[in-house]
Amino acid sequence: MFIAKLNFKVKNERRRRETGKKKPKSRFIMMSDQELIRQGAEARVYKTELDGRQVIAKQRFSKSYRHPDLDYKLTRGRLNQEARCLKRCRENNIRVPEVILVNKKTATLYIEFITGITLKDWIIANGDQIEQERTLMAMLGKILFRMHGANIIHGDLTTSNMMFDGQSELVIIDFGLGYNSLTVEDKAVDLYVLERAFISTHPNSERLFSKVLEAYSEADLAAAQPVLKRLEDVRQRGRKRDMSG
Ligand code: AMP
Repeated sequence: MFIAKLNFKVKNERRRRETGKKKPKSRFIMMSDQELIRQGAEARVYKTELDGRQVIAKQRFSKSYRHPDLDYKLTRGRLNQEARCLKRCRENNIRVPEVILVNKKTATLYIEFITGITLKDWIIANGDQIEQERTLMAMLGKILFRMHGANIIHGDLTTSNMMFDGQSELVIIDFGLGYNSLTVEDKAVDLYVLERAFISTHPNSERLFSKVLEAYSEADLAAAQPVLKRLEDVRQRGRKRDMSG
């Protein structure tokens, strides 16, 4: 296999020299400067350009404490999983960034750059826009219902993982912990994570999350009810855990 690849490379190189053709540039050389947006525990997020288009490059890095084989497997596994979740969302008409390129070699995911601000920043800056806030929460509830209907679990729902263009488009981002699941429990926990995020990030925001749940259940009461019922159990478990420290 290796020998065959090497022969292919040598032949290609010889042909290029004979015909005087230049070696094609790698796609990655065409990238312009990278602006580091976030340095996380698992990945670095850059804003950059790829073939003249503004993109986000999310590069997962190795963990030195892990065995290299295991590290490679885990890093590539997560990379693929994130790309798969994004693709599945788009197949189900859920607005998420388009996957442009998955570079397994560098463990980098290139996705569409979304213009706008995070929902977190929007809520903080627009706490007085009650009507628009309600509309947004209803939109979010419907999106989450559709996502769960497609058996996609985000895994880290927070208002920082949603982008709003200020008008009509709400985009869910960062499926780094996303996965596929049919269970009511996983969907309920997904909602619980968002509820906790609302409580910790937006004080006195109970009305906001209530609106999200209202829209979630209105989308299809029969399908939503088991999830919302399980959410009650998850909350109760959370309270017990809090009490026992
Ligand atoms: P992440 O680690 O994926 O949550 O990304 C970290 C930050 O990068 C987010 O909070 C956003 O501000 C920004 N970001 C991530 N993905 C995108 C995107 N597709 N378009 C624009 N900004 C993004």
